[in-house]
Amino acid sequence: MRCSYSVCVPAPSRLRADACPGVVATHDAADGALARIRLPGGALTGAQAHVLAGCADDLGDGAIHLTSRANLQLRAVHDTGELIGRLADAGLLPAPTHERVRNILGSPLSGLDGLADIRPLVGALDEAVCARPELARLPGRFLFALDDGRGDVAGEGPDVCWQALGPATGALLLDGADTGLRVPARNVVAALAEAAAAFERVRGSAWRVREIDDAPLIAAVRHLAEPTEPTEPTKPKGLPRTGPPPVGPFCGDAGVVAAPLLGELGAAVLRRLAGLVERLVVTPWRTLVLPGVRPGALSGTGLVTDPADPSPGISACAGRPGCARSLADVRADARETMTALPAGVHAHFAGCERRCGRPRGAHLDVLAEDAGYRVEGTWVPADELADALKGRQ
Ligand code: SF4
Repeated sequence: MRCSYSVCVPAPSRLRADACPGVVATHDAADGALARIRLPGGALTGAQAHVLAGCADDLGDGAIHLTSRANLQLRAVHDTGELIGRLADAGLLPAPTHERVRNILGSPLSGLDGLADIRPLVGALDEAVCARPELARLPGRFLFALDDGRGDVAGEGPDVCWQALGPATGALLLDGADTGLRVPARNVVAALAEAAAAFERVRGSAWRVREIDDAPLIAAVRHLAEPTEPTEPTKPKGLPRTGPPPVGPFCGDAGVVAAPLLGELGAAVLRRLAGLVERLVVTPWRTLVLPGVRPGALSGTGLVTDPADPSPGISACAGRPGCARSLADVRADARETMTALPAGVHAHFAGCERRCGRPRGAHLDVLAEDAGYRVEGTWVPADELADALKGRQ
């Protein structure tokens, strides 16, 4: 049993409703309607990519924006009815009642480089979640994950996660921590769905597992675990952990991981990718896994495939003009100053203290303020930002 608080306390009482956007219920941003399209496991077929490119061109701002949960967003959407119709026809809106809760991360290289293949489990879990009416009430922030054993998406703080320990069994994690329960692969889908249902029953106004005592969740899935005494729970570091797959070729010529600058993909580029692959994978680190593609095939797209390029480590929130809360055009400032950062240094630019989209890993905090930025808490004028970023570790 584990509780996030030293003394278990009731779930927090929230003043504001969970307003995570979807396609049916968009977010009213300063630049128009923002639609978020869930991609369980980050998977997108070439045909679906083609449809999305058309939606971005015809109905949005001409770009597709990658999120830190391996989803996609369209901004400045001016005809949501048309968007819903096109996405539904493309199979990207299979369950409108559940669209905001189809938040399922999957190890993006799974099945491509020899480790356990969790792709069928992602599809089965998506179907199981959408088949249970009560799970439509989960908060939009609730996150499932299926990790193929390398420990990449398990490190993203999912609420409920199965991390493979071998082809036939794995560890059940809650809020990223090992519960000690070992769940056979055949029971994974049922176990994660049961844990989510138990969370929905007890959560009150909580949005994430870390806000509650997780004992009811463990009790709900124990019958699906292996019939042995649970092993001693281990801390997250007790299970394997790896970071994001780096940009560049993977497994020789198996394909390439490519990064759009600041996670923004032009419709023309996505259309070109749609012609190169049958299926691509969007990762939670705002990169794309392109099976069977060599870096040379991406020339002229602006996608980064050079592991020495620092730009994939830089992220930014929407900022001005898309967000009314922003104190600066943080994306323009990030583009202008990112070359000052040494390769390998990660930084997140944010227009206000909410710091939307910030990565979980270590990074420089670059926060907009009037006429300048706070870099790791130290204010610098805007015209000295590049100098302030130079030589940072
Ligand atoms: S961090 Fe602030 S400014 Fe940036 S998108 Fe979020 S709310 Fe808007």
